[in-house]
Amino acid sequence: MKTQMMAAVLYGKEHLQVEPVAVPKIERGDILVRVRVALTCGTDVKVFRRGYHARMIVPPAVFGHELAGDIIAIGEGVTQFSVGQRVVAANSAPCNSCFFCQRGLENLCEDLLFNNGAYAEYIRIPARIVERNTYAIQPDVSYQDAALVEPLACVLRGLEETGIHAGDTIAIIGLGPIGLMFVRLAKLYGARVIAIGRRKTQLDRAHAAGADELISTEQVPRPAEVVRRLTGGRGSDAAIEAVGNPETWHWAVDMVRRGGTVNFFGGCPNQSRVSLDTSLLHYSEITCKASFHHTPFYIRKALDIICNRDIRARDFVNREEPLANLLEVMRHLMSHNGHLKTAIFP
Ligand SMILES: [Zn+2]
Ligand SMILES: [Zn+2]
Repeated sequence: MKTQMMAAVLYGKEHLQVEPVAVPKIERGDILVRVRVALTCGTDVKVFRRGYHARMIVPPAVFGHELAGDIIAIGEGVTQFSVGQRVVAANSAPCNSCFFCQRGLENLCEDLLFNNGAYAEYIRIPARIVERNTYAIQPDVSYQDAALVEPLACVLRGLEETGIHAGDTIAIIGLGPIGLMFVRLAKLYGARVIAIGRRKTQLDRAHAAGADELISTEQVPRPAEVVRRLTGGRGSDAAIEAVGNPETWHWAVDMVRRGGTVNFFGGCPNQSRVSLDTSLLHYSEITCKASFHHTPFYIRKALDIICNRDIRARDFVNREEPLANLLEVMRHLMSHNGHLKTAIFP
């Protein structure tokens, strides 16, 4: 067993290095996974750009959180997994005992345990995540497909919280990997999808993912008006904001029908504020929701969707790179909007 491995260490703002570090030691209940693939994620790019994430990571630290791989060692007391198994592990696990966990809001757990370090040859999966949020991968499911489980679980939960039904019209603002997953899932749920994005490549991808109508914000400065026109003047039943920008939060509120639901899915920069039209919210009975993160229930449900082949990595991952190129990949993702995910092979 090696004692050193290559791993990406985040040192701060736009500063990371792929360098030799010690292979993590595992303790009781932990497992050690040989990472077969790690996927880049918008959150990682954000962390790279800002140099930290208040809840998830404080540098210097190994990072990356979407991964699948093989178990190469198990800690004492691990009975549900064995060496050699292919697994996918979520990036967090709840405590199961706090106020929020007891109410089924494990995503808001007061002691949510986060795990980072997917951009490395090996990652330690701590006991709590092994116990509550790690799953064996079926032999016919690829590592890349399996590694999508974390973002998919967030999106799936967001969609179900929004409460859409077959036949509903849903507007999706923002067509990055997350927005595209919303398009794909909303189609699976039988909704009519209006996809709203800036770049032609994004709109093309949304179309390929099944979107029924496309609105280019490069051509249309006020997409809410177009959404109304496409819905008999009413507005969409639901709108999902998957950008993380106060302006697009406003758009979302402006495009839903009376009694409709808005989901502010995209987190805005710290200290952002929005001012909303109170009479619109009140007299039109608009429900405003926001969805953050995932729960073990949705991780399992997302994995089922992946096992059914309803969501495939090839629709969301368009580049493959060795770990050594991670810095360049992060810089590229930071400077090019409209990118998809990159599969990193450590
Ligand atoms: Zn992610
Ligand atoms: Zn808890």
